[in-house]
Amino acid sequence: MLVDVAVNGPCCSGCGACAEVAPELFALDDFGTAYPVRNPCPEELACQAARICPVSCIEVMVPGTSATPACR
Ligand code: SF4
Repeated sequence: MLVDVAVNGPCCSGCGACAEVAPELFALDDFGTAYPVRNPCPEELACQAARICPVSCIEVMVPGTSATPACR
């Protein structure tokens, strides 16, 4: 399934883990805050990044909705 990802910018610590595990989905801006670079994207990779985020600020949503699917 394809999903959309979003980063809650203020909560991002800038650790870079999401961009390391999924560089095709996330990058860091000049201030060290992560942002999504590709939407929609594969659910499995999006959830992998969401799980690795130490501050749980990556949101995974069904495209066109605000619902967050459960990441397996
Ligand atoms: S893993 Fe989380 S805290 Fe780290 S850069 Fe990505 S969004 Fe920010």
